[in-house]
Amino acid sequence: MRAVAVFCGAGPAVPAHYAQAAYRFGQTLARKGLRLVYGGGAQGLMGAVARGAQSESGGILGIRPAFLTGPESAETRFGEQVVVADMPTRKAQLMAQADAFVALPGGLGTLDELLEVLAWTQLGLIRKPTGLLNVADHFAGLLHWLERAAAEGFVRPAMPRSLLVETDGARLLERLDHAENPGSVL
Ligand code: AMP
Repeated sequence: MRAVAVFCGAGPAVPAHYAQAAYRFGQTLARKGLRLVYGGGAQGLMGAVARGAQSESGGILGIRPAFLTGPESAETRFGEQVVVADMPTRKAQLMAQADAFVALPGGLGTLDELLEVLAWTQLGLIRKPTGLLNVADHFAGLLHWLERAAAEGFVRPAMPRSLLVETDGARLLERLDHAENPGSVL
């Protein structure tokens, strides 16, 4: 495992403990020599994870669509930045450039990215492991739904087990590094 795509909230006004956890996770990635691949934002948890990685001289690849160059355009940019034409291209690049995926707390954009990765994993189109950094049990509702949907047959039974959930970033990265190819358990 060399690069990890991180999906997380871009909203600037979230409780401080989430940003602190994102910053620490960025540091952990860098200390393990893992490149951060992310959406290129400088606000909210996105900015925090990038600042954390930068503080430990970690590699960073930000991939953002051309239209997201509004108020953030004048802000600090971290590491290598690639501007792509649109959101589907950005998502495809995030998925291609990473060896594993981690979702941190976030909103609709984060869930969109996470659920697309899981849906494509279930179809065998993605064969890379995915984890959740479950800060403050942020994902409790989603995990509850996932178990229910699997029990009712809407989601493949192996999916809840193949999604790795941890509150400690280093432990999550260790598990992702040793994870089986998720395609083989479906
Ligand atoms: P949200 O969870 O709705 O805050 O959206 C965050 C996710 O969507 C991130 O993982 C990004 O890939 C993408 N995203 C949303 N807003 C931005 C932004 N302003 N700059 C860069 N990426 C963003």
